Amino acid sequence: MIPELKGDRFAEFTLPEGCLLCGGEVTIRATPAGASSYCPKCHWLSRPRMKVKGNGLELTYAATANA
Ligand SMILES: [Zn+2]
Repeated sequence: MIPELKGDRFAEFTLPEGCLLCGGEVTIRATPAGASSYCPKCHWLSRPRMKVKGNGLELTYAATANA
């Protein structure tokens, strides 16, 4: 799933079923400092890694299994 990148400084978009926890829609905010994602349903916050691919984005969620 590669959402389109809008604008060259930052972008905000939603990913349907993008939440790893509840499967709800998450809001992704991409800034020059990095990306953050937020699920309004279960309040899941994450900082996915973002790769620019062509004129789209690829998001990778780092495993947070560090005990
Ligand atoms: Zn969620």
